Amino acid sequence: MDLPKYAFFQGKIVPYSEAKVGVLTHGLNYGTAAFGGIRAYWNEPEQQLYLFRPIEHYTRFLNSTKILLMNLGQSPESLLKITLELLALEQYRRDIYIRPLAYKADESIGVKLHGIKDELSIVAIPSIKYFGDKEGIHVTISSWRRVDDNVIPARGKIAGAYANSALIKSDAALAGYDEALTLNQDGHLSEGSAMNFFMVRNGVLTTPPVTDNILEGITRRSVLELAASLGIPVQERPIDRTEVFVCEELFLSGTAVEVTPVLQVDHRTVGEGKVGPITTAIRQKFAKAVRAEEPEFRAWNVPVYPR
Ligand code: PMP
Repeated sequence: MDLPKYAFFQGKIVPYSEAKVGVLTHGLNYGTAAFGGIRAYWNEPEQQLYLFRPIEHYTRFLNSTKILLMNLGQSPESLLKITLELLALEQYRRDIYIRPLAYKADESIGVKLHGIKDELSIVAIPSIKYFGDKEGIHVTISSWRRVDDNVIPARGKIAGAYANSALIKSDAALAGYDEALTLNQDGHLSEGSAMNFFMVRNGVLTTPPVTDNILEGITRRSVLELAASLGIPVQERPIDRTEVFVCEELFLSGTAVEVTPVLQVDHRTVGEGKVGPITTAIRQKFAKAVRAEEPEFRAWNVPVYPR
């Protein structure tokens, strides 16, 4: 992986090599940290880099820190300002991925959330294609359950909960699948290891509600808004495991995976076995919207370089 040149660390921007923590750091030992993942897309004709919905991402990030009893003394706007300062130094002219991290920073033993110093770091790295050049992927249903709101809230992007995601992802990958969907404690489908999902059933674009132990994805929200603008009917409701065996179309959504078609679930072909019309329409509109090429959704794009 290409390493960044700089990091925001302990209140200022420093060379990335200086952004280091000790092995006793609370967040590293106990998973008491929250993170975000934001993309910025390079628009070649405009010679501009556009952040995708950074205020929405930072609002969720701060909500995650609130769940962990953290107080960073930041607002979504101040986090965006730091990000723009960092990117002004990095001078990327390509698609990138930004990783803010809030962590319990004391180098101390003792599992708790209160009375521990919080720190913030932000770095930006070149982004990668999550599933390479695959047209569509094969998912399984994981034998691992998704973390429950009363265990580690999936609503927060909490570092410790990603041990659950890592168990889900590696079991699927080592068994030859690209990804896995998980069931929540009720036995309904919730999401993938690090992405939300949508299915089309009887022409209706359907995704689990935010009360089914999902991360409230910014891409998920964007897909719902794009669908509305395309006149595609949408529904948020609990989804049974076998509905994804018999649905017409299925896709994943997330900052990293963008809109990725799923063509097989546990060796059953999804729909006709090729990318369906609703997935295609959403994927195309999303790909334009993130690069600031959809006038209707320009409010989603924040330019990095002054003009
Ligand atoms: N669920 C999980 C568990 C995730 O880690 C992510 C990635 N942030 C998502 C869903 C998708 O969220 P977003 O669209 O905001 O990236």
